[in-house]
Amino acid sequence: MRKPLIAGNWKMNGSKASVTTLLEGVVGGMQDLSNVDVAVCVPFPYLEQSERMLKGSAVALGAQNLCTESGGAFTGEVSASMLLDFGCHVVICGHSERREYYGEDDAIVAAKIAQAVSAGLRPIFCVGETLEQRQQGETDAVIAGQVDGVIERIGIEIFRKVEIAYEPVWAIGTGMTATPEQAQDVHAFIRARIAALDPEIAAGIRILYGGSMKPGNASELLAQPDLDGGLIGGASLDATDFLAICRAG
Ligand code: 13P
Repeated sequence: MRKPLIAGNWKMNGSKASVTTLLEGVVGGMQDLSNVDVAVCVPFPYLEQSERMLKGSAVALGAQNLCTESGGAFTGEVSASMLLDFGCHVVICGHSERREYYGEDDAIVAAKIAQAVSAGLRPIFCVGETLEQRQQGETDAVIAGQVDGVIERIGIEIFRKVEIAYEPVWAIGTGMTATPEQAQDVHAFIRARIAALDPEIAAGIRILYGGSMKPGNASELLAQPDLDGGLIGGASLDATDFLAICRAG
């Protein structure tokens, strides 16, 4: 059985004051949540504060990005070992916002996943199609390309230590959630793609859904057989909403 993972992606939001309020709220509401893994992926400047506030709690700390290299002359970058140093367990790789605004392609995403795993972090590897691609009937081809583009470069074995997130770009921050059926179809497609290479890895890997997941739609999404959790943007900035989604997991 795959234990669900609900991970918050705060994106570029927050201040010292708001992080304090949000994490106090999340940590304070974790009592009845032993059936679900919970993580928050915070902006780099708040890692230390978050590490301190999450100490002793069941909430895992995560980051939203890392460097393709392990260290050295890479101005402005943050390495996997630095993230570990601040108590991170997970890191998002290949989010569509990074692909779209920062030119991350499959090769970069693969290198980041490899860096993360070799340092002992669990990457959350994001894939997803745009609205135009869905309307053109290209969803499966796009997802297959993104999944294969990583597997071809770093192999399937590494996927024992990877979470996948399916995030349709058209559902991110738009309030337009994928229907449970649309999400389930793509999740099953991803699992089958991996099963063709290694059925055991496919059976164990968690595939999260992301894109306007809210307290009101989380239960029916998470009830789908191949949905193993959520990657939550906007709703993870409110402790009550985030905890409600965790409870649906
Ligand atoms: P929203 O939940 O705000 O749609 O964002 C989803 C997302 O991009 C999580 O990584």
